[in-house]
Amino acid sequence: MNVVTRFAPSPTGYLHIGGARTAIFNYLFAKKHSGKYLVRIEDTDKKRSSEEAIKAIHKSLNWLNVNSEHNVVYQSQNFNSHIKVAHELLKKGHAYKCYLNSDELEKLRIKSRENGIPIKSPWRNKEEPYDNKNKEFVIRLKMPSDGTTTIDDIVQGKVTIKNEILDDMVILRSDNTPTYMLSSVVDDNDMGITHIIRGDDHFNNAFRQIQIIKYLNWNIPYYAHIPLIHGTDGAKLSKRHGATSIFDYHDLGYTSEAMFSYLLQLGWSAKNDEDYCIDRATKLFALENVSKSPAKFDLKKLNNINAKNLNSMKISDIYKLVIDRFKLYLNDEEQKRFKSLLPELLKRVQVYTDLEFEFDWLFQKDFFCKDKNYQLILQKHNLILKEIGSRLKECEWSVENIKNTLNQYILDKSLTFKDIGPILRMALTGKTNSPDLVSIIYELGCTITVNRLNYKY
Ligand code: GLU
Repeated sequence: MNVVTRFAPSPTGYLHIGGARTAIFNYLFAKKHSGKYLVRIEDTDKKRSSEEAIKAIHKSLNWLNVNSEHNVVYQSQNFNSHIKVAHELLKKGHAYKCYLNSDELEKLRIKSRENGIPIKSPWRNKEEPYDNKNKEFVIRLKMPSDGTTTIDDIVQGKVTIKNEILDDMVILRSDNTPTYMLSSVVDDNDMGITHIIRGDDHFNNAFRQIQIIKYLNWNIPYYAHIPLIHGTDGAKLSKRHGATSIFDYHDLGYTSEAMFSYLLQLGWSAKNDEDYCIDRATKLFALENVSKSPAKFDLKKLNNINAKNLNSMKISDIYKLVIDRFKLYLNDEEQKRFKSLLPELLKRVQVYTDLEFEFDWLFQKDFFCKDKNYQLILQKHNLILKEIGSRLKECEWSVENIKNTLNQYILDKSLTFKDIGPILRMALTGKTNSPDLVSIIYELGCTITVNRLNYKY
């Protein structure tokens, strides 16, 4: 079988974490089966869709490297085909025109709610009135009223419902625009979609949409409805759990690889941790290994994955990320300093944007420690700092010599490294926690180091 999947977001806002994971699953499943992965923008609701949202979706898919190699389908461009199908269903007697006005419809809604029965318009069984020409109507699907419908969902398993519970859903509105329920089915058929992988909030829709497919004798696709993502408290993921837009995580400094890997782990389980990267997952991904229960979005876990990823990335790649993000213009010396200290600096952050807090001491020529409490300590140890400064000034600049100079100093003064380490760190970086001191001194260079040690607090 030539597998064809699609990711079909509605461009009504940013791309949600759950949507991004659906895209990843569709992408991987298609790749695993050497099939096609398509993106369809479901922009039928013109009032709620926006260009901005479309851009945000593409930007997010690009960031995660799950964009389609094929042309993007815009659902609104296929309206004519959807309308044609609505009329075909009408002609074949599988749909009917419903002339209920809004009051009548409201009464029907209340009645069906009270009696717990699905909405079936009285027009279902009526002949068309001859004077209906100017009256507004919608087209409703004539749902089968007996029998059952079974979907053997790859994730949810086999589920059977009684057809009598199905609403006669609207497929064409009175303004001649098709509804999502129709458009989505027609597009899936026209695009040759073989596997529909989407959130399980659409599982109920599948039982209704499949009726259209059956009426038209189209191929029934395979379905895989994946559980939604919840917060750690078990509630559906919402803003109160933190950012829900996938691109916010880009902005917060998470790497695309870490985000990909984490989203993949939300629901899919592989044998090894290494399998959650795009290259390996395209070979291993299987819908059978997608969990049926909701995944929990755990920021702590994401942070761990991100930190791990940062420490396994090529320094040149991280360097580029940081430079681009903060629009840093560094001279050769600064570039070298930053690149050399990066592996150590990365051990101390969970997201690379936190490196921003290191920029002052790394690049400011006239840097001095700004913390008032630290300043008092530095004042107190002014002499030690000065003395070390003047010894370093004489030293031929190499890691080895710097190390020896510091060791010699503590030996001469009967001190221990604990007596000089923290204050040197404060004077040079303004912090008590920083990469290896000798590397810092070496990379800052003689002039900067000595100036900082001589600063008058
Ligand atoms: N456009 C729908 C959504 O964003 C998805 C429809 C589908 O996958 O069939 O929820």
